[in-house]
Amino acid sequence: MAAETAPAPASPTPVSTAPGPPAPAPLAGWGPPVPLTGWGRTAPTAARTLRPRSAEEAARAVRGCGARGAIARGLGRAYGDAAQNAGGAVLDMTGLDRVHAVDAEQGLVVCDAGVSLHRLMRLLLPLGWFVPVTPGTRYVTVGGAIGADIHGKNHHGAGSFCRHVRTFDLLTADGEIRTLTPDDDLFRATAGGMGLTGIVLRATVKLLPVETSLMSVDTERARDLDDLMARMTASDHRYRYSVAWIDLLARSAATGRSVLTRGDHAPLAALGPRAARTPLAFRPGSLPAVPRHVPPGLLGRGSVGLFNEFWYRAAPRRRTGELQKLSAFFHPLDGLPHWNRIYGPRGFVQYQFVVGHGAEDALRRIIERISRRGCPSFLAVLKRFGAGDPGWLSFPMPGWTLALDIPAGLPGLGAFLDGLDEEVAAAGGRVYLAKDSRLRPELLAAMYPRLADFRALRAAADPRGVFVSDLARRLSL
Ligand SMILES: Cc1cc2nc3c(=O)[nH]c(=O)nc-3n(C[C@H](O)[C@H](O)[C@H](O)COP(=O)(O)OP(=O)(O)OC[C@H]3O[C@@H](n4cnc5c(N)ncnc54)[C@H](O)[C@@H]3O)c2cc1C
Repeated sequence: MAAETAPAPASPTPVSTAPGPPAPAPLAGWGPPVPLTGWGRTAPTAARTLRPRSAEEAARAVRGCGARGAIARGLGRAYGDAAQNAGGAVLDMTGLDRVHAVDAEQGLVVCDAGVSLHRLMRLLLPLGWFVPVTPGTRYVTVGGAIGADIHGKNHHGAGSFCRHVRTFDLLTADGEIRTLTPDDDLFRATAGGMGLTGIVLRATVKLLPVETSLMSVDTERARDLDDLMARMTASDHRYRYSVAWIDLLARSAATGRSVLTRGDHAPLAALGPRAARTPLAFRPGSLPAVPRHVPPGLLGRGSVGLFNEFWYRAAPRRRTGELQKLSAFFHPLDGLPHWNRIYGPRGFVQYQFVVGHGAEDALRRIIERISRRGCPSFLAVLKRFGAGDPGWLSFPMPGWTLALDIPAGLPGLGAFLDGLDEEVAAAGGRVYLAKDSRLRPELLAAMYPRLADFRALRAAADPRGVFVSDLARRLSL
């Protein structure tokens, strides 16, 4: 796989292959089973993979995928098991990597689904255009961005990724390629549908005009959760991008203390003479990669507590108009290749949920539970979502979303997170499927009200269940 593709096999843990007889017959053109995980490196399963280079090859691959079905995989940045298919087939879509057209007048790009947002940034920034939505890593594909209907720090104003997709081509279970627009049910089922309606081959995306590749950033500290929510409620609308880092180990009066970072693309006039010479340069830096073998337990309560204390205190109480590189503002972790290895061989769980406006008490209770439990999480962020998105399984809803990383080896983690799921569901919220590897299926329908429509559409469009993943089996999607 290319350098920016999926992470190395997750761990030395023996890989569980397909449960149940009979063993699938070898498939023409497919390699031997390889272990795959999501970015959290938990739950490895083995699948045969194939990297189609054209729509025809993808269609052939799906026809010959065998009884355990197929799922598309992009750059493997979903944290859980969404892009895995135990004992079945996985199509590595990064081979479909052509940018077909850029309309620099209208700000439109037509590209294959395997093109990464990193590549689009390199191509489009010099032309004065930026992707409409970027997650916390630019190493995701356009197909993965549609499959999870990803959101960014601008969700409160811009919605999620598929709001900016004008059209895409979908390879469906009957072998047809359908061109879909936001008016089609199949478009809305695919937006956030985790690859289960078919394979996105190509998309047309509307871009955002920018004058520079720098960000103008305001930073402030919030002393606790109430202070943070009050600041975000009062003034998020003045910023295109907003996100807060939360110290989840802080307790008592300091519970929820945070660093709030908000900003927008810097206008040309904000640049000094030197930077103004190449205002649209895109040069993200990179540190050496984290080694393959990191001992377990590096990130414990003590080390993360020290980090969090330092991070909070090092942040300015209030600073405005700081110019930052785009990569530093949006994708700081991309500068440390394979940073997910820091959690050691057992990997980590990323837990992300949203609760609506009016459910602030539930958010507060959950944060208190996490801080009382002493979850050693240093990557914890709170965002304020805007209006929900049309995708039937799209994650965002108006309200508050918290995402945190937790080492998978933490004793009692499963039962602890089950308890949080129940609190989230009772508050009318939901967990994010692109991050999930452990949710119990019985909570899903309460969390995703359009789940029945999604299942009905899948049953009609894919009666043989060609498109399937570990996530789909686990949650009966
Ligand atoms: C550091 C980091 C930060 C992140 N921050 C955010 C964030 O801020 N917001 C957010 O929303 N997400 C975030 N994510 C999650 C990530 O954006 C999504 O999981 C995204 O889907 C990953 O894209 P990918 O190309 O790696 O797809 P994969 O992880 O390989 O696959 C993800 C899903 O998309 C489907 N898929 C992939 N390609 C296709 C295709 N061609 N056709 C149909 N389905 C397809 C897969 O079947 C799977 O269900 C983050 C992940 C990381 C590692």
